[in-house]
Amino acid sequence: MNDTILLAHGGGGSLTRALVEELVVPGFSNPALNRLDDSALVEIDGTRLAMTTDSYVVSPLFFPGGDIGKLAVCGTINDLAVAGARPLYLTLSLVIEEGLPIETLRTVLRSAAETAREAGVQIVTGDTKVIERGKADKLFINTAGVGVPLKGVSVASANARCGARVIINGPIGDHGIAVISRREGIEFKTPVTSDVAPLWSLVEKVLAVCPDVQAMKDATRGGLAAVLNEIAAASKVSVLIRERDVPVREAVRGACDLFGYDPLYVANEGKVVIFCPAERAAAVLAVMREHPLGRDAALIGEVIEGRAGQVLMDTSIGGRRIVDMPYGEQLPRIC
Ligand code: MG
Repeated sequence: MNDTILLAHGGGGSLTRALVEELVVPGFSNPALNRLDDSALVEIDGTRLAMTTDSYVVSPLFFPGGDIGKLAVCGTINDLAVAGARPLYLTLSLVIEEGLPIETLRTVLRSAAETAREAGVQIVTGDTKVIERGKADKLFINTAGVGVPLKGVSVASANARCGARVIINGPIGDHGIAVISRREGIEFKTPVTSDVAPLWSLVEKVLAVCPDVQAMKDATRGGLAAVLNEIAAASKVSVLIRERDVPVREAVRGACDLFGYDPLYVANEGKVVIFCPAERAAAVLAVMREHPLGRDAALIGEVIEGRAGQVLMDTSIGGRRIVDMPYGEQLPRIC
């Protein structure tokens, strides 16, 4: 391990994983934590709860399609949703740099409140800290959330089985490209808007037709490639995707060419990847496509016999290549 923290330690790739597994988890080790999934599952007086927390450091605070307030609420809702849990209550903690315009904070909080209201969750407690000018970058937000896991649903990164189908609810890379284009001041002919959205209403519909979803993750930092690798590793299976079936908007593909990014590794904030039994794939796709957040849902691959932890892709030009776990993040401070 390095002597100092690198930006890549925050990228959601293999370096983040190493930091968490080697430095963080050993001191706290317990069954709920050791799953290292999007939410922890705990039990209080016989009632099962899902808990999660996340910090948001996105730069800039406002980007096409969203802002740090909406992002903070959606991110925590989505980590509960992909655990198969109905999100209920959130906390919201602010770390503010001295000099931030009150109007900026007001706008961010209004956006967070509106997102929570629309998603049917309540922000029930929080905290406010202010740091001297120059010691933080405008505004950081931490949210935690609790939810109730649906009965009869048992999703985990470790549950994907051979033959499972891999489905995503729409095109990848929108969030990362929206943020980086605003950060760099680049305008595209077709503007790219972040996909940031609360996914519970979509996930609930999927679980209603397919309570036996095996694994489910929101593809955020590290993109689609990171979540496929996490599930392949945790489940000790091989995953094969087909490049031509992975939805990518033309504008995102163009921006990726311009910046030198691979869309598989670009962040999303409203995309869920679902591993379901083959016989349920048609039903899952059908309910997704009826939902505004799943109109472009696609079946992108399956779990195959092969080396444990490996992700492969059949390319559009007829080859087959390995899709590696990202090391760090090609775009820092994306969420
Ligand atoms: Mg997540």
